[in-house]
Order: sequence, then C-alpha cells, then structure tokens
Amino acid sequence: MISIRNLSKHFGDLVVLKDISTDIKKGEVISIIGPSGTGKSTFLRCLNLLETPTGGEILIDGLSLLDKKSDVPKIRQKMGMVFQSFNLYSHLTILENLTIGPVKLLKKGRDETNKKAFELLKLVGLAEKAYSFPDELSGGQKQRVAIARCMAMEPEILLFDEPTSALDPTMVSEVLSVIRRLVREGMTMVIVTHEMEFARNISSRVFYMDQGVIYEEGTPEQIFDNPQKERTKTFIHRIRSLTHHISSKDYDLYALQGEVETFCEKHMLSKKESDYLALITEEVLCLQSDFSDIDLSLSYSEKDGTLEFVCASKGTPLNPLEEGVADDDIGLRLIKSRCKSVGYKYENGKNILMLTVKGE
Ligand code: ADP
Ligand code: MG
Repeated sequence: MISIRNLSKHFGDLVVLKDISTDIKKGEVISIIGPSGTGKSTFLRCLNLLETPTGGEILIDGLSLLDKKSDVPKIRQKMGMVFQSFNLYSHLTILENLTIGPVKLLKKGRDETNKKAFELLKLVGLAEKAYSFPDELSGGQKQRVAIARCMAMEPEILLFDEPTSALDPTMVSEVLSVIRRLVREGMTMVIVTHEMEFARNISSRVFYMDQGVIYEEGTPEQIFDNPQKERTKTFIHRIRSLTHHISSKDYDLYALQGEVETFCEKHMLSKKESDYLALITEEVLCLQSDFSDIDLSLSYSEKDGTLEFVCASKGTPLNPLEEGVADDDIGLRLIKSRCKSVGYKYENGKNILMLTVKGE
C-alpha cells in the first residue's frame, strides 16, 4: 500500500532522514519507537507531504507522491494524520469540526455528512458532545474528536504522531482504547508512540528508529524481547529499567519509593516482589556510608522474569555485603534472604552491588 524508496530529508546541513526504504501493507499496524530527535515525526510528515522529502520516492497504491504529474491532494486524502496537539477548530462545534472537511473538500451532502459524523462520534464515545466546543472538552476527549475528524475524511491510512504524549496520564487509556478499536476494524496505521505496552499489543510490526534510519524492525516480540542490534538493545533496556540518582544524604526517600512502586505496577510485579524490592531498596541504602554519588538501577526482564537491582556508589573499595563490614548485619540478612543472588565488584571508583530479587 505504501512503498518508500530511499527517502531522505535534510534541513539545510542537518540530515534528518537517511535513505529509508520500507513497505507497509494494507491492514498493517506499524509502531515507530526510538529516542527523541531521531526523525520519527519528520518521517510521518514526509509520508503525507507536510514536509517535502529531499530525495527518494513514496508510492501510495502505486501512485508516486513526489511525481509532479500526480494529483497530490487526492493521494493525500487517503492519509489522515493525528497530532500530539489535537489541532481542532476552536470556533466550531465538535460536529462542525467533523463535517467541515467532508463538505468542503470531499463535496459531500450535509445530511450524509452529519449522519456519518454522528456515527463516528458514537464510535469514539462522544456523541453527546456533538454541540459542545473544543474548549469544553478534556484533552482525552479532544484527541478522540481529532481521531473521529480524521476518520470523517475516509482515509485509508491513519498516521499518529505521539497521540497521547500531551495528555494527563489519566486520559491516556481512553485514547489508546479508541485506537485499539480502529485496529480491530482493520485500519492501516503508522503510530509513533512512547507507550511500549500498547505498541507491543497492537502492532504487527515495530520500527526502531535511530539517527535518521529504521535501525531495526521486526515483530513486537522480536524488538521488545529479543532485539538484535546494539542500539536497539540499549534503548529497550533503558525504557524497561528505572534509574535513580542520589547525591546527598538528604535524598528524597519518598520520591524514590514512589518511583519503585510505579515501576512495579508498570511491570505488573507480584505483591511479594514489590515488597521485597521496596525493602531491598531501603536496606541497601542503609548499608551505604557515602551518599555523594549513588546510582540505583532496577530492571525487569519480561522474557525470564529476572528482577535486577544494581547500586553503584562512589567511594573507596568496600564490600558492604560482607558480614561485619557495615554496622547493620540484620539489614544484610534481610537483603540476602530476599535475593536469588548477590554480587559485588569495584569498578571505576565505584562499589557496585548486583542483586537478583527472588520471584514467585
Ligand atoms: P522525533 O520526532 O524523532 O523526536 P523529529 O523528526 O521531530 O524527531 O526531528 C528530528 C530532527 O530534525 C531534530 O534534530 C529536529 O530539530 C530537526 N527538525 C525537525 N523539523 C525541523 C524543521 N522544520 N527545521 C529544521 N530542523 C527540523
Ligand atoms: Mg516527534
């Protein structure tokens, strides 16, 4: 359906997209993930010509988007794009936001358009807001309207650029649910997102973009559980893990506990694992003597269920896991009884503790 050949985009001297080639089939749902600034938005914007590519070719159903002879507006109508920031017309009602495009651009009749608009508003759960104005809606509702408005133009492909990243956390799921619904209906979609669980669940393929190229692509299982290339591995590991830096003895313990709790929820860890982790975090910090530079890191592997806790602390070599070294032997026993394995090394001026927390 979409065929991309050697696509490149430069902004002056800045090379943002380098020679991207890929094909997207009808009915596929592609998630694009990757660090910020690597060209994900630019890639989407080139696909529907919000940006003019510097080189290469984009074919939609065999028709070239970049050929001067092509009826570009017509080809573009096949693609709808949903942005981070909704972009609704604030002076029009929700219903009018949905009907203005079909009436003006597709030259459709009023009655037909209104009927269709109501169907779409029902689909996104907002039929009762038809006569409200955008400002009267929450962010999540606005984004659902934006999706319905896109659908009103009867696109064949939907492009989403981080559709939930401008939303309050409480509103993310209502928007993701609507997108899921469209997936079930077989829409072809390309979605740039930071919602990794969502990407894993809905995508047929995942593109990992890095430094202007599709660095690695594969099924969600391949990319999230078994990435092959170095930078993909690093990225996946980083989004999986929690890192926390401490630079003084007066560190914010409650903030740290909150982060650990969120981490446990995100990875759906059991009550036992969460309790162990909270206790280990506290006890490991009790064993420290120098708080000027401590890095804590937590990571969980969905593949084998390993829960790893690493504490790297600047100082002279001293293994606090040895009996009698720290004042607190009870704390030490508490830690050891809740870990499958404990390890210690001294590296780059840091005492590094590596613990694997006991699971189920
Ligand atoms: P991502 O969506 O992956 O975060 P973007 O596609 O937004 O990345 O941006 C990639 C790079 O292109 C960034 O360095 C950004 O500053 C640059 N860029 C994006 N749009 C423009 C523009 N219109 N003019 C100049 N530079 C741009
Ligand atoms: Mg972006």
